[in-house]
Amino acid sequence: MTSYLYERLTQTAPSDDKIVIETPNGRILTYGDLRKESARFANLLVSLGVAPGDRVAVQIEKSPDAILVYLACLRTGAIFLPLNPAYTTVETEYYLGDGRPTVFICDPAAFERILPVTASINVAHVETLGNDEDGSFARKAKCHSVDFDDVQRGPDDLAAILYTSGTTGRSKGAMLSHGNLASNAATLKDFWRLTSDDILIHALPVYHTHGLFVAVNTMLMAGGSMHFLPGFNAELILSLMSRSTVLMGVPTFYTRLLQNAALTPTATSNMRMFISGSAPLWAETHQEWQARTGHQILERYGMTETNMNTSNPCEGDRIAGTVGIPLPGISVRVVDPETGVALPPGEVGMLEVKGPNVFAGYWQMPEKTASEFSLDGFFMTGDLGRINERGYIHIVGRAKDLVITGGFNVYPIEIESEIDALPGVAESAVIGVPHADFGEGVTAIVVPKKGASIDEARVLSALQGRLAKFKLPKRVLFTDELPRNAMGKVQKAMLRQTYADLYKA
Ligand code: AMP
Repeated sequence: MTSYLYERLTQTAPSDDKIVIETPNGRILTYGDLRKESARFANLLVSLGVAPGDRVAVQIEKSPDAILVYLACLRTGAIFLPLNPAYTTVETEYYLGDGRPTVFICDPAAFERILPVTASINVAHVETLGNDEDGSFARKAKCHSVDFDDVQRGPDDLAAILYTSGTTGRSKGAMLSHGNLASNAATLKDFWRLTSDDILIHALPVYHTHGLFVAVNTMLMAGGSMHFLPGFNAELILSLMSRSTVLMGVPTFYTRLLQNAALTPTATSNMRMFISGSAPLWAETHQEWQARTGHQILERYGMTETNMNTSNPCEGDRIAGTVGIPLPGISVRVVDPETGVALPPGEVGMLEVKGPNVFAGYWQMPEKTASEFSLDGFFMTGDLGRINERGYIHIVGRAKDLVITGGFNVYPIEIESEIDALPGVAESAVIGVPHADFGEGVTAIVVPKKGASIDEARVLSALQGRLAKFKLPKRVLFTDELPRNAMGKVQKAMLRQTYADLYKA
């Protein structure tokens, strides 16, 4: 029997002794190990009573074992449900209560803390797995066979539930099918020309769509190898470049690498591709990267619910400030957010997406799912953007971040780009804050460059004449750092909360 996604991820696997994952502390996993060790984990899951369709929740530090658990879930027909290890006990309780897993695998250090929670929601088995092949799950798996007869799963069966990052509102479980993940991995592998010669520097977390599906699924399908780093480390990444070909990162990876003097054309000469996504990559970062290394960063766009939707091309123009063109087989359109009517090129509206990549709905939320799809089956992404005459897509922001001031729509990115270009500014975030007169007051939160002398009056006078009057910030405030989640997204909801009383008398 075959498990649809597992079969597709491993069908081009090169010889058993080819390295698939290598860690900085010297752990090496070959394609043969991947098959055998995931079989042990699959046998253990079955012995714990896991049946097809059951959820297996995993909240552990990044390690090759996290990938083995994922593959074991695919092989047993279980639904993989990864959780960010940074969640508090209260947050974890919400996810476990919502996902109702049969097995919960946590970090050994979290075991005592989590037991009252798992007991209260009747999780049948709680196991531990450390990042050094330790923990009850690793220990028990050693007694199991390296052979496993995969459970039959088809393209419509669920492979994973990933909770949305929840930067706005409560996190929802996105149900991703074997077919969704297999089709997107195949599309990206072809579009980015990934082959078994590619070696990826993997420094992303593996509980999120970017590090798990975009990175791991595509590399497995290509039969390539990965340097598996516990997290972002500029020196380590730079030192690995001479033995690697691809880096996938969030924009902060690139801005931080640019601060390192060791980033040179020679350091990057073995690299084939630098890919960015999950948050906007500033056009300046793109240009600076090209000037420093000779490489153009390839930006792509997607989300937990849809996998990847668009990408700049491998060959052809990679245009700074755009997320590229729709991937083959995926339709992207821009509609009026009020009427749902499709808009002509150049006009800003809500991005909608349709294709085999689009998820099966939100876990146990049929009404919410139905409300996020148009009548003709397009998923409403909640992102605002426009498509230019050449078919390239520009993301303008999240619909929920749109500021409406005195009846005018203001797209934060337009103001942020102007402010970021000012001397002495490291970065900025523009938000709408409740304002008695205007409904919302455009408010800029600015991070100055180290040692720069910049103040509110100087920012405001620089913006005069460059932006229409209604777009000008009512206030410009300064901070040392913008709040970001693990994927580098600025948490605007948090900023709006912090500054909620700014215009109250
Ligand atoms: P997540 O579900 O955590 O992957 O977040 C998806 C959201 O990240 C999208 O809806 C976009 O708002 C944002 N996003 C992803 N990639 C990009 C990109 N290249 N440029 C701008 N925003 C992006």
